[in-house]
Amino acid sequence: MISIDTLRADALDPASPGRATTPALDEVANGGRRFPNAWSHVPLTLPSHATLFTGRLPPELGLHDNAPFPLRSDVETLATRLHAEGFATDAVIGGQPLGVGCGLERGFEHYDAPTPSEPGSALFGERSAAEVTDRALVRWRRAVGERRRFLFVHYFDPHHPYVPPADCLQGDPSDPAVRYRGEVTYVDRQIARLLAAVRQSGERCLIVVTSDHGEGLGECGESTHGFQLLPATLRVPLLIAEVAGSATTAPAPLATVAADRPIGLVDLLPTTLALLGFASPEGIAGHALQSSAPPAAHYVESLAAALQFGWAQQSGVRGDRAFLLHVGADPPLTVGPYELRPSGDGDEQWLLEPGAAPPSDERLLEWRAAYDAARSRRLPTASETATHDALTRLGYLPGSEDRERHRLLPLAENAKRPAPLARVATIEALLEAVARFEGGDPLSAVTRFTQLLDRDPDLLAARFFRARARLELEEREAGRSGVAAREAVADLARVLAAAPDYPGAPLLQIKAQTLAGDFDAAQAALLALVAREERAEVEYLFGSFLLQQVGGGRRNPFFDPEAGFERLLRSLELDPLQPALRRKVEQNLGVLARASDAPAWVAVALERVRRRRGRRYRGRSAR
Ligand SMILES: [Zn+2]
Repeated sequence: MISIDTLRADALDPASPGRATTPALDEVANGGRRFPNAWSHVPLTLPSHATLFTGRLPPELGLHDNAPFPLRSDVETLATRLHAEGFATDAVIGGQPLGVGCGLERGFEHYDAPTPSEPGSALFGERSAAEVTDRALVRWRRAVGERRRFLFVHYFDPHHPYVPPADCLQGDPSDPAVRYRGEVTYVDRQIARLLAAVRQSGERCLIVVTSDHGEGLGECGESTHGFQLLPATLRVPLLIAEVAGSATTAPAPLATVAADRPIGLVDLLPTTLALLGFASPEGIAGHALQSSAPPAAHYVESLAAALQFGWAQQSGVRGDRAFLLHVGADPPLTVGPYELRPSGDGDEQWLLEPGAAPPSDERLLEWRAAYDAARSRRLPTASETATHDALTRLGYLPGSEDRERHRLLPLAENAKRPAPLARVATIEALLEAVARFEGGDPLSAVTRFTQLLDRDPDLLAARFFRARARLELEEREAGRSGVAAREAVADLARVLAAAPDYPGAPLLQIKAQTLAGDFDAAQAALLALVAREERAEVEYLFGSFLLQQVGGGRRNPFFDPEAGFERLLRSLELDPLQPALRRKVEQNLGVLARASDAPAWVAVALERVRRRRGRRYRGRSAR
């Protein structure tokens, strides 16, 4: 199973002007089957891979974003099933959204994923296709005796940023689409090495090549993916072939499947299991291609703009050349080449491909039934305990507000929220400004956010990020006058007045108050949070607060280094995946310990943090 992250369907389509040079994948497609009508259900990496691995849809799994929740630990996956059937199971992962802890690793004897990027880093932890292939070849060649084997390989190179080797470029490298296709060509060269090894082994091998979602590349105004429900990011390539030595053939059971059959990624679990001779788990949403008629329509969703900006959740179904969608208030009449048209029922919209017409009333009922079934399907809640336990083992305790934000809103309530489709350009401008901030230029980011807020003062995300950028400026300022921090306090007060649970805002407000010198307000808010639940971020913030001597020109009356480091250590124990924080704490304690008059607690704390070195995954202590 090969997943090439962020791979647009047209990159492998021989008839498309957007195709990349991919001789290795062409050989798979030409000898096997190419299915050009394959679709992702959600344009985000982890939720999409979860559908691929479980045959279940995001609402059923309760998994709508890459974070903070992993795939719940009580559902059968392709890996757990094949492992139970006696397969040797290996995975080699190219990008951090599928890192250890995401929940996909269950069932794999070896799950080889990149280490997390440093906290605050703008880029995902990523491996090049060459490294992924090197590691995949090691896994492929391991001795497994008489056992059958399952290898999952995840390539991440076509994900933004696009930086292919020069000899993979065809065209003007200043064009992002050219660089993107260069990344695809680069991945194809690496897949050629993998395929050569498979052929050399002489083993009979079923190969599935697909992607989790596409990429906007400017289509309909979207440059990357995740925030919109549009064909460019929902359509995915799908190749299925059998390889035995030098022969590449189509699996015989798929011979009668129509080439243009609509396929959802949920269908690949039952299809793959059936091709290997196994029954599918009971009650899943996916259908095996070889043994059932296609459903009337496939469920699609994107909650990213809702989760990150508080706008509408987008969801609906995709059937023949059209989507039936719920997209929020005041959607545009057209997006790129697509027409949007009210369906005549409440807040539903048709999104029609050029030349397409809405289906008949009878079909419409089937589409609505498919939508309602997908939205209402829920796994028993008892197992949420298991998910909670899995998170706790990772040291992550999601706040209760996280859980609420990740639920599907009632449609009537959702319909009042702003439509992300009407704000494509704003989202692009926001992402560009955020990239400046994360790229280390808070000053120009503040200017960009201010421009956005001049046009739309209610743009909470711009206000939130302007506050973050201003706090960065405050921290960089030698004298720490508190001016930028006080501006951040004002911005965050407005965000919190409009959206009390805006993600990250309550914690950021405490930091802003600390830097502005309003220590009483910060301490009161911290005590309230600590009383409610134990969380790594809160402990970290409390520690930073206690270690802050001066803010906004005032001395901190609560300054207490011993208690401050105690809180930082507690934060590390709750969330062991913070290598940069661990190093920083160790360094600072080391400096303190070298002083001749170092108090005794410094040595004790230093010993405690050193003991944590190299321990990445440990259960929480009993406290
Ligand atoms: Zn992805």
